[in-house]
This record gives sequence, structure tokens and C-alpha cells, in this order.
Amino acid sequence: MTAKKGRVFSGARPTGKQHLGNYLGAVHNYVALQDEYDCVYCIVDLHALTTVEDTENLKQNTYEMALDWLAAGIRPEESIVFIQSHVLQVTELHTMLSMVTPLGKLTDLPTFKEKVRMQPHNINYGLVGYPVLMAADIMLYKTNAVPVGVDQAPHIEFTREIARSFNHRFKTQALIEPEMKITEAPKVIGIDGQQKMSKSLDNHIEIAATPEETAKRVMMMVTDPQRQRRSDPGNPDVCNVFSLHKIFSSAEEVNMVNVECRRAGIGCVDCKKLLAKNLNAHLSPFRARRAELAQKPEYVWEVLEDGNQRARVIAEQTMVEVRAAQGLP
Ligand code: SF4
Repeated sequence: MTAKKGRVFSGARPTGKQHLGNYLGAVHNYVALQDEYDCVYCIVDLHALTTVEDTENLKQNTYEMALDWLAAGIRPEESIVFIQSHVLQVTELHTMLSMVTPLGKLTDLPTFKEKVRMQPHNINYGLVGYPVLMAADIMLYKTNAVPVGVDQAPHIEFTREIARSFNHRFKTQALIEPEMKITEAPKVIGIDGQQKMSKSLDNHIEIAATPEETAKRVMMMVTDPQRQRRSDPGNPDVCNVFSLHKIFSSAEEVNMVNVECRRAGIGCVDCKKLLAKNLNAHLSPFRARRAELAQKPEYVWEVLEDGNQRARVIAEQTMVEVRAAQGLP
């Protein structure tokens, strides 16, 4: 077995059953990273509290997300899968890091401004401190690399700045500056053909859906808006159905759609049926594994509790160094 390159950390909010956007944008990559890194995957339920007003479903959403991760191939005997709020040291480190983080910097961040725009009725402290909590998440586990898309790179740079600031001020090396591991995940557009796939926009396709539900959602997908009739030639380059064909269909099928669509040789209904068939075939092993795991929900909670314990051990080691560096009695 080859030596791993270091530790990777990534967190995701407990959004429940995962959709194609989650799957292609994160989960698929989480699974692949296990071959190269020691992986720590966190369900960041505290982060969710900054914007989720109704917390009734947090526990169920945590369970469903963990179930999807495990069914997709995350190996809990190697990787740590855990719940953010079950490792209390993260709130302690968050407080300590907040002392070395200029307030103006936080309120200037585009992500904070965006949140203020989205929820003007609830501009809470948690929104301001969000990037500091994120930095605490990352550094608590002695993370060497964080997988991110290009758009999230500023968050990691911010974490690195906080690490430098803390280490410099307290003359320590307790905090590791994480590297960015830029991942190339496709941007998955929802079935509305316009916006990023998202549960809140109800434009998503759940990976755990039944084949029938999947086909129904695929048939609802918006296609080339210029193609009004079956006899009109279409343009696959502007069609979201074609984008998914490029991921889930064979090279021959992609080529066929690309050619036939342009000369009205294939209609959108048949094109979507083909996509639904291929999507269902791709997800079939995942769904079988998920159904098997869903028979024993206690196993999923045991995996999470085991992850919580393993995460606490690393977290406490870091905090021993961090507390000592600050001269806490
Ligand atoms: Fe899109 Fe397929 Fe219709 Fe062409 S035939 S517009 S690729 S759904």
C-alpha cells in the first residue's frame, strides 16, 4: 500500500438526501480522495444553524446524508465521518481564532454580503463569524489540504491568513496552513435549465430516487428553448440534458445526440428517455447499497459516533498545543 499524502478535510451542511449536484460536485470526489489521503469528512450542523431557521429536520438530514455518503463508497474504516457539533473543541478554537481575526475583514467578505442580501431579516453574529468557524473546522484536524472549487479558494486563503496570524502572534506552529486542492467538478444545472441544482429551488434530482421518479424528473428538464417543435433542429450546446449525457452516457451515444439533435433526427422525449436510462443504470449499484444500509439505521449512527470519537482525539491534541501557546493556565 502506498503512503498517503496527508490529511484532507471537507465539510458539508446536513442537507439530507443528496442530489446530482452534491454527488458530482463533492461526494464523488470524497470517495476518490480516499485512495490518496487520510480523509476527514464532517457534517457541519453548526454551520447550518446560521441560515436554517427550522431545525426540526436536522437529525434526519444528517442521517440521510451520511447514508448517501456511505452508500456512495466512503469507507468509514479508513475515513473519519463525523458530526461537527459532537466535537466541542471546534467552538473553543473558533473563539480563540476570533481574537486574531479583524472584524472589518469579515464584514467585507463577499460571502457575508451575499448572506446579508439573502436574509436581511436575520443578520446574526454567526453569519459574520462563519469563516472563522470554517477555519477552526479545518485547522482543528491538522489538515494538509482542502478540496475546493475555484470559487471557494478565497475561503482557504482566509484560513491560511488566520493560521499565520495566530502562529505569529503566539510564536507557535500549532496551526497548519492548509493547501488548496482545486477540484474540477462540473457545475450541475437544475432541471429548470437555469440555476445551479439545489434542493431549495426544487430543481434537483435525488440520487436515491427510484428509477421512475428519476425518469419523471428528467422528463421535466428544460431543453434548448429555441426548439419549439419536434421538427426544429436543436442546439445541444445550450441544453442541460446534453450536459448530463456527457457525464452519464457512452461516447457513441453522446456523439449520436450531438449529431441527431442538430438535424432534428432525435426528439427531446427520446433524448431524455435515453438519459434517464443511463442515469438509472449508473446509480443502480449505489441505490442497491443504500437500500441495504437503510435496513440498519443503527449502523449509520454507529459510524458517526465512531467518527466523532476519532475526531475528538485529533481535536484535543491540537487544542493542547493551542492552549499552551496562548499561555492558558
Ligand atoms: Fe436537448 Fe436532446 Fe432535445 Fe437536443 S434532443 S435539445 S440535446 S433534449
